Amino acid sequence: MNSNQEKELVKLFKKDQVLLSPEDKTCYSYDATNKMFLPDAVVLPRSTEDVVNLMKFAHRHKIVIVPRGAGSGYTGGSLPVKGGIVVSFEQMTNILELNKDKKYAIVEPGVITQEFADYIQPFGLFYPPDPSSMKFSTLGGNLAECAGGLKGRKYGVTKNYVLGLEAVLSDGEIIRTGILNSGNGTSYNLQGLLIGSEGTLALLTKIALKLLDQPKYEETVLATFNRMEDAAEVVASITASGVIPSVLEFIDGDTLQCVMEYVKLDNIEKAAATGERPLEAVLLIEVDGDDRAEIQQDLEKIMEICQEKKAKSLEIAKTKEEKDKLWKVRRSISPSLLRIAPTKVNEDISVPTSQLPAMVEGIKELSNKYQVSIYTFGHAGDGNLHVNFMCDSRNREQMERVEKAVDELFRRTLELGGTLSGEHGIGVTKAKYLEWEVGKEGIELMKKIKSAFDPDQIINPGKMFS
Ligand SMILES: Cc1cc2nc3c(=O)[nH]c(=O)nc-3n(C[C@H](O)[C@H](O)[C@H](O)COP(=O)(O)OP(=O)(O)OC[C@H]3O[C@@H](n4cnc5c(N)ncnc54)[C@H](O)[C@@H]3O)c2cc1C
Repeated sequence: MNSNQEKELVKLFKKDQVLLSPEDKTCYSYDATNKMFLPDAVVLPRSTEDVVNLMKFAHRHKIVIVPRGAGSGYTGGSLPVKGGIVVSFEQMTNILELNKDKKYAIVEPGVITQEFADYIQPFGLFYPPDPSSMKFSTLGGNLAECAGGLKGRKYGVTKNYVLGLEAVLSDGEIIRTGILNSGNGTSYNLQGLLIGSEGTLALLTKIALKLLDQPKYEETVLATFNRMEDAAEVVASITASGVIPSVLEFIDGDTLQCVMEYVKLDNIEKAAATGERPLEAVLLIEVDGDDRAEIQQDLEKIMEICQEKKAKSLEIAKTKEEKDKLWKVRRSISPSLLRIAPTKVNEDISVPTSQLPAMVEGIKELSNKYQVSIYTFGHAGDGNLHVNFMCDSRNREQMERVEKAVDELFRRTLELGGTLSGEHGIGVTKAKYLEWEVGKEGIELMKKIKSAFDPDQIINPGKMFS
């Protein structure tokens, strides 16, 4: 951006909506990857009209625009890799409408996911997509990444809850879809294209979300295992049995060890202290619903499967305090891993649940073959595993081994019928692998779609396609 363009930009907005100092720009130069790119400017819109004005300006001057939510992405989607203006939605945080009878809400994209869940909770309503980052991620970022979460297996992911969108196109025109549009849906599914498009097609300015009634009953179980493969088989068996847990989280032995060094977990320590072998895995399982008898039946089936597969310990929470205790191990993973190594390369592959035992075994092999520390946990109920390579980005030789291990992880995932990303998207970090999954033809078609939305390639370029 030249100085004349900068002056024009400043005139379009109130003084505190345009950030130009190096200090301010640095705050918008990173996300949860280990990468950093400085933008030319940061704009903080307060309305759809602001976004329209910004896009018209960018279109006129062919200036790159990079949408940003909370910057919690793991694949670099909000990084200004080609410079330009970062558009942070942090001031578009209004919940515009809550319709309790028809069970929907209309929100601005900057609303924090957890704040939205807390807002609707007193009305007995429930928004299931619950990424582990929900305390800081935004609904706009969740939409753009099609975020998943702990409850994905039973309740689906973000795309299953979108009823309508308002989006500003690259030339500043507005489109509305679903219930935000007066017509009905006999057309190309533009809404479907925008969800998960990682901010590369348009800027989302309003989102209509479907809500559910909160389930009346919930049961929580924690099971420990001496063999990682047994835990993976429990996941596959539960899925095959027809029981659909609302939560089915897998934690491998190394991750567990790391958490136990970080927080006190009496219950798990007790299980670990008996027997010869160390614990190799933990499963945290929840079932919920409105029919008490059905929940009880599901719980019994889960216990039976865990016992069949030689669970070392099995605990059911009877009170809220006990439930919190069982959840402590899951909630402590992220902070505990941070203590191990300065760099975490976090991949979120997903495989059919029947292939989880093979995937888990494959990850162990990768760790040995490339001599890298790998910590695995994740939403195993929908086959989604977070595979964390703990390393040090200053150690070039180690990073080369990590890169080779990541390459092989993705190859093995695709061979098992899985996908490169369960929920974190493609962004910058996985762009070079996308063709492996969708093929050359898929990439070419997507590039044509991108060009139809954004002929000048000014919205979030450098993402998805390598
Ligand atoms: C500790 C931790 C745990 C995590 N756990 C999960 C998890 O369980 N499940 C999961 O799915 N993800 C998880 N993530 C990843 C991340 O939080 C999600 O991808 C989240 O959806 C990103 O939201 P954000 O607001 O931070 O978006 P950002 O990171 O700022 O942006 C993400 C993408 O959305 C685009 N975007 C943002 N706002 C808009 C908009 N208004 N219009 C158009 N495009 C926009 C950006 O350009 C970018 O491509 C985790 C991250 C961390 C750090």
